[in-house]
Order: sequence, then C-alpha cells, then structure tokens
Amino acid sequence: MLYHASPERYSLMDRIYCRCGRSGVLLPKVSLGFWHNFGGDAPLERSRAITRFAFDHGITHFDFANNYGVPAGSAEETMGVLMDQDFRPYRDELFISTKAGYGMWDGPYGEWGSRKYLISSLDQSLRRMHLDYVDLFYSHRFDPNTPIEETLQTLVDVVRMGKALYVGISNWPLEPLQAAAKYLRERDVPLLIYQGRLNMLNREPIEEEILDFCHREGIGFIAYSPLAQGLLTDRYLQGIPADSRMAQEHFLKSDRRTPELLEYLHRLEAQGRANGRTIAQEALSWVLEQKGVTSVLVGASSVEQLKNNLQTIQ
Ligand code: NDP
Repeated sequence: MLYHASPERYSLMDRIYCRCGRSGVLLPKVSLGFWHNFGGDAPLERSRAITRFAFDHGITHFDFANNYGVPAGSAEETMGVLMDQDFRPYRDELFISTKAGYGMWDGPYGEWGSRKYLISSLDQSLRRMHLDYVDLFYSHRFDPNTPIEETLQTLVDVVRMGKALYVGISNWPLEPLQAAAKYLRERDVPLLIYQGRLNMLNREPIEEEILDFCHREGIGFIAYSPLAQGLLTDRYLQGIPADSRMAQEHFLKSDRRTPELLEYLHRLEAQGRANGRTIAQEALSWVLEQKGVTSVLVGASSVEQLKNNLQTIQ
C-alpha cells in the first residue's frame, strides 16, 4: 500500500530532538539501527513496518554500516527497496548514516581505513541504498596501520565530493579521537559525532573519558547497543526465546544470561515499576541522562519493541 507518512510525525518536536554537539543538526533522542533484523534474512514487510513506524513517530535518523544484514550489505539493500517504495518523497527529512571499517570484501582493500577501501565502500553503500549521498559517513574503527591522516583526509574528501554531508568516527580510542577532532576542525569539516557502545553494563566511553571529551569539544555522541543487545530488557527474564538474538549464539552468547544479570534485571524491573517504566525504558533513560549523549541507537525486531523504546522520550 502506498505510504503516506503520518502528519503527526513532528508533533513532539520540542521533546524528542537533541542538538548534535555544536552543529546545526538535530537528531531524535532515539534513533533506529539496522545492524540486525533488516537484512536479506528478515521479512521485508516487517522491516517496512518497523521503519515506517519509526518515521511516523519522528525518528528521522537511520543508521547503517556497509556490512549490516545477512548477507553483509543486505540491510542497505533493504533500505534501497524502502527508499524506492516508501521514502523517496521524504529523503530530505531523513538523516541516513553508514560506515566502513570492518571486513566487507576479500583482499587487501576490503577493510580498515585506507582511502581505497573507504571510498569504494561508500560508493557501494550509495548504490545499495539507492541514494546520491548519505547524511553521515563514519570510519567504523580506528586503523593503527594506516596513517591517520589518510583516513581523516578521506573523510574530508567524501564531504568535498558531495558523497556525505557530515562525518563521524566510531570505536576510536581517545587519543586518535582527539587527533581526529583537531585535523577535521582545521579543514572545516568538523567531526559531527562519535558512535560508541554505552549502556548500563558497558560504560567504557565514560571510563575512557571519550564522552566527556566529545561534550567539551562540541562533538555529538550516539550510544549504540543501549540495551546491551536486548540483555537490558524483559527478553531473557524467563529463558531464551527461540526468535531472540541470543538464540543465534553469535553476537550475543547465552553465557551472558547469568544469575547476576537476572538479579540486576529484577532490581531494574522493580525500579521501573516505581517509575512507571519498563526495564528497557529504564536502561534507555539511564543512557540519555549521561551528559553529552545526543541519542540512543536502538535495534528492534518488532514494532512493539520500538514502540516501547520510543515511549522513553514521549
Ligand atoms: P540494542 O541494545 O537496542 O538491542 C536491540 C535488541 O534488543 C533487539 O534486536 C531486540 O532483540 C531487543 N529489544 C529492543 N527493544 C526491546 C524491547 N523494548 N523489549 C524487549 N527487547 C527489546 O541495540 P543493537 O545492539 O541492536 O544496536 C543498535 C544499533 O547500534 C545497530 O543497529 C547499529 O546501528 C548500531 N551499532 C553500531 C556498532 C558500531 O560498532 N558502531 C556496533 C553495534 C551496533 P531481539 O532481536 O532478540 O528481539
């Protein structure tokens, strides 16, 4: 059925957007990630329903990487289909990001941080998503073997070439992050945002002073896996559901479901009950309360999950 986005989608504009560092960009406090659940192995109609639900509720930021989906790249292909069928009229209302850094194709030019890899990969992403440009392009991980200037100059150049409007980095340690912020600022392509894993169970960006640096420098921070891939929800309270990420035993192993975790979850559940919130909402609120956090980047395998997550900010 032809998609008409909800006319109410910006009705909570004042509440749900946050300025990304010292930039002109407002991002929704909850953004949608396409790492899992949107690949070639996921039903297209479910992917469509989740994506439409997000946009209908003001979630304008969709996050990808070259290798998302099974097979790698298929999440971007799904977005290409959805662009053609649903979202083309809304392109200017969307803030779409992608990344390159991890292994994507065979041979010496299919991963890390060379100019050769990053530009080829971004071109592939644009073709898969049926886009002329992405709003944000990230270096997905720091490459200790490529001169940092090569990686950073490539980020500058993809903006100059019009392939990306803004640039970001993800998973970089503090010291190269500091060098990146300086290099990019001096070339008038300021670092828009840092993407790092931050949730109640993994606090590295705080402990490593990355979040604080971003905040002081006017760089946005977007927290990935804010629900620790589903651990910080009610998903695993009673066992391991057959359709859950943990059941796949790949990125989320069943040994993470420990008695200590269950005890922690029960405490969070009780705290949530007192606040009128679910476990997931407690976990997302905690991340959003950290000074310097612009947005939480959630995954969802159903509209219901996303709805629950969005209620955190509504
Ligand atoms: P989350 O921590 O939000 O985990 C998402 C999973 O949690 C869902 O797939 C679902 O599991 C479960 N879930 C979500 N909401 C609920 C709910 N309300 N109730 C019960 N269960 C729920 O994030 P992800 O780990 O998926 O990461 C989010 C995004 O962050 C990615 O899509 C990607 O864009 C980005 N990312 C970036 C990385 C990087 O290196 N830069 C690395 C990892 C992620 P189930 O599927 O089992 O139902």
